[in-house]
Amino acid sequence: MDWLEIAVLAEDEAVDSVAEILRGHGHGIAIDQPFVQPRIDEAPQRDPTRRPVVKTYIPDDEAAPAIRQAIEQALWHLGQIRSVEPLAVRRIKEEDWANAWKPFFPVVHVGQRTVIVPAWRRHRRREDELIVRLDPGLAFGTGMHPTTQLCLRAIERQMQPGYRVLDVGTGSGILTIAAARAGAAKVLGVDNDPIAVNAAKENVRLNRLSRVIRIVEGSADDVRPKPGQEYDLVLANLTARVNASIAPWLARPLRVGGKVVASGILWDTADLVINAFAEAGLRVVEQAQEGDWVMLIAERIDTGALGAE
Ligand code: SAH
Repeated sequence: MDWLEIAVLAEDEAVDSVAEILRGHGHGIAIDQPFVQPRIDEAPQRDPTRRPVVKTYIPDDEAAPAIRQAIEQALWHLGQIRSVEPLAVRRIKEEDWANAWKPFFPVVHVGQRTVIVPAWRRHRRREDELIVRLDPGLAFGTGMHPTTQLCLRAIERQMQPGYRVLDVGTGSGILTIAAARAGAAKVLGVDNDPIAVNAAKENVRLNRLSRVIRIVEGSADDVRPKPGQEYDLVLANLTARVNASIAPWLARPLRVGGKVVASGILWDTADLVINAFAEAGLRVVEQAQEGDWVMLIAERIDTGALGAE
């Protein structure tokens, strides 16, 4: 997963307004104020020849063009009263992003109790908090993407002590670890990207959860639980297209009455997933939306045909 760095050069008086606009659309804010220090024994001063730059980052995914357009529109309005340059967009590879972004990577609170704590930050845990320590490294799953947050909230609500959980497309392992913290007895995280598998394994170690969690390279069709050991919950933060195409394999490892939490779905593609789920014996019982992204919760219904597979 690559990122887009959105940078805007603005006059001093416009910096707060630009930061406000970028904060509303991106992940965090960085303001580069150019300083000069003409002599080593003098305090640094604002460099009058260069203007400040305000930056934010957005995931380079299907939603990026619409977000970029919304930012451009808001900046255009601001440009009517202040001097603001058009935005400069730079693609940042995930491996560079991980380092570029580290200083700005905050502790993120999601839902009622879940807290994502970057591996290099300190956090004093409150009694009821579910802590996920994370070094996302090269894998997707930083806790800042809306789809991840929708899933984390669903995990808090759906989880019951002792649940067996399958996380398809575990990425950094974020949902797998959150599920274990929320009380799952066993969690299996699978991903077809070996880089993600390594990152997830590292993060499981970091959280000392190796007894509860297993991470395996593969996909949903590789998962065949023994009779009586079916999963209570399947997590699938993939894309609409992948969710739709692997719907039967998301349903198969679930017990009847078990649920799939599916996200990564842009709102205008939700029907694709809902229809594929219906055919696979998964009935959508809940929907939530954040920005352009949708999360579906679907329950596995009792169909003889599926049982015979
Ligand atoms: N679960 C994390 C990461 C989601 S990104 C989170 O919620 O933030 C999606 C992940 O799914 C990526 O790591 C990608 O490698 C993986 N993936 C995509 N298609 C897959 C498939 N068919 N089977 C297994 N993993 C898949």
